[in-house]
Amino acid sequence: AVVLGIESSCDETAAALVDGERRILAQRIASQEAAHAPYGGVVPEIAARAHAERLAPLIEATLADAGMSLADCDAIAATAGPGLIGGVIVGLVTAKALAMASEKPLIAINHLEGHALSPRLADPALEFPYALLLVSGGHCQILRVEGVGQYQRLATTIDDALGEAFDKTAKILGLGYPGGPAVEALARQGDPQAVPLPRPLKGSRDPHFSFAGLKSAVLRAHESGEYADADIAASFQQAAIECIADRLNRALGKMDEVTALVVAGGVAANRPIRDALKSIAAKHGLQFVAPPQALCTDNAAMIAWAGIERLGQSDPLDTLARPRWPLDPDAEPARGAGV
Ligand code: ATP
Ligand code: MG
Ligand code: FE
Repeated sequence: AVVLGIESSCDETAAALVDGERRILAQRIASQEAAHAPYGGVVPEIAARAHAERLAPLIEATLADAGMSLADCDAIAATAGPGLIGGVIVGLVTAKALAMASEKPLIAINHLEGHALSPRLADPALEFPYALLLVSGGHCQILRVEGVGQYQRLATTIDDALGEAFDKTAKILGLGYPGGPAVEALARQGDPQAVPLPRPLKGSRDPHFSFAGLKSAVLRAHESGEYADADIAASFQQAAIECIADRLNRALGKMDEVTALVVAGGVAANRPIRDALKSIAAKHGLQFVAPPQALCTDNAAMIAWAGIERLGQSDPLDTLARPRWPLDPDAEPARGAGV
């Protein structure tokens, strides 16, 4: 079976063809980084226009790369949320048109499920249920992944997502957008103990996250003029790692049996974070699974793969694009604005 995947929920316009043998037959990603960089973050209107301009030719090129046509696909899977609504609409409407024209089923994918299942695309041995740390630009959650569509959320952020904290730290340090990779690179030249920064919620009973206070402390440290930027970056990353470790240790202690500790989402590309998670997994007697770095940040292969996992599903052509779409609708609402 082959599924065409489409992703357009943020600032990556992407298409991919993935088969049931976990082969990525073709994949194209058009990043809009250059278009948003002058503004220091993603501008929704610019993103929506760029998706609208680029998506159709990108899909054609992806099919051509694989020497395939829509007739060779078994379904068309597209991100239907959560994300910037203009971009989501562009991707979903395009998928609907292709599905209608080719008489193939449409599979509406939750972008977070794309991230959550991406480790299974890379690792055929990964079985449900697994513990998942989902760390991306908009989310920071600990979930028990029990099966496709079955997610139990144990923790979320009460304010900022971790990727957001990396991006804000980068902005404070003048490293530009997107910030994660730049902060990681600068941190390599710094001393992780040089700057005293808080570990928000460390030791608290519920395994939730908070990063707003850490970001404010980074801002104060920078404004004080007392510290080198590399030391701030390294100390920030170290504080983030210690928060993750504390919160995960708490959550894993409460979680019913799982096969592995898994990380997904853009921040999962961070090398020191991956290393720290590996030792947390070992401490809990768990296998550690992380997708290759290219599958961590937004891509369409993970959406196509989620389509493979959901093959047989056919969503109606009036399926709504959703700006918000929690993986676990039963999860307790978090305090503050985080999801
Ligand atoms: P969401 O998936 O929650 O809707 P998103 O799709 O915008 O949000 P992703 O593309 O999954 O987020 O991840 C992007 C985030 O990952 C950005 O905040 C970026 O700074 C961060 N990130 C990417 N690479 C790294 C890295 N090496 N270290 C830390 N953070 C990183
Ligand atoms: Mg992006
Ligand atoms: Fe994402």
